[in-house]
Amino acid sequence: MSTQHPPRLPTAGQLLNLALAYLGAGLSRLVRRPVVLGAPAMLMVEPTTACQLRCPHCALGRGELTRPAARLTLEEFRRIWDAVRPAPALLQLWNQGEPLLNPEIAAIIRHAASSGARVVLSTNVEPLEKELLAAELVDAGLHELILSLDGATAESHLAYRTGGSFEKVERGVRNIVAVRRERGVRHPKLTWQFILFRHNLPEADEAKRLARRWGVDRVVFKTAQLEDTAREEGERWLPEEPRLRRYDLRGDRWVLRRGAHFFCDRIYTSATVLADGRVVPCCFDKDGSHVLGNALEQPFPEVWRGRAYQAFRRRMLTADRPGMCGNCTEGLRNLEVKP
Ligand code: SF4
Repeated sequence: MSTQHPPRLPTAGQLLNLALAYLGAGLSRLVRRPVVLGAPAMLMVEPTTACQLRCPHCALGRGELTRPAARLTLEEFRRIWDAVRPAPALLQLWNQGEPLLNPEIAAIIRHAASSGARVVLSTNVEPLEKELLAAELVDAGLHELILSLDGATAESHLAYRTGGSFEKVERGVRNIVAVRRERGVRHPKLTWQFILFRHNLPEADEAKRLARRWGVDRVVFKTAQLEDTAREEGERWLPEEPRLRRYDLRGDRWVLRRGAHFFCDRIYTSATVLADGRVVPCCFDKDGSHVLGNALEQPFPEVWRGRAYQAFRRRMLTADRPGMCGNCTEGLRNLEVKP
């Protein structure tokens, strides 16, 4: 199978659509009613709800998802994706679950990349211990791979990545770096995403050194999100230095350090599709509590401009926002930090 070309720039149609999407958001803010211009410029699609790990602040890992397990097929993905025109400039292939456990993931990437989208996938890396899978990702034209690794040693990585294996992680990283080198290509860009917790903070410098040794392109340090904001949970997991976390302790709970009056652009510029085709406003709706339609039962544009979506957008212009908005990154500044 031939190696795809490196990432392309967005087309004029995609750039125009991006501008329209943000213009719609701006107008909605101004006139206080939903104005939707254009298609979503970014789509997050969940390839599967399966995962081999059980991370303590992941809804899936905690066993909190009540929605049925699902896996998106290539045929279903094509039906959803091909209905959105112009093709979104960005496809984020993750949500709940480990995307690389979907056996058709390379074909899904290939289909989206060939339509001109930048395709980014976030993984816990372990499935890449299979060399063949690493080669398939490169050949499919994946633009960026986010490596979700939260420690530079097995002990600290596994303190959060419950049930994982640091040896598999190392083999996986080395495999994809080796395939890139063999093919003489620079994609996918390899971004190590290191979530800063109290226990792994001392390993930040070692992570940078390890990344260089492994051939990873960059390390990004992110503040942690808590699924459970009880006082003792934050005290266990969050760094003590306020600059390195996004929450402050108020009474018995950790609350986001953000003004109350933020505006949500995301519901005008992007959407999230669950593995069973249901469309939700964003990745913070982890259990599918605010379903706005099903992109396998009706064309995506009908969902995007449909009554349920517009009603949700109207609701977001009021003070009656869903609980999930209280723990989301919209309007937050301190997501990436330098430890
Ligand atoms: S959680 Fe709420 S504010 Fe955040 S992106 Fe989703 S809809 Fe917007």
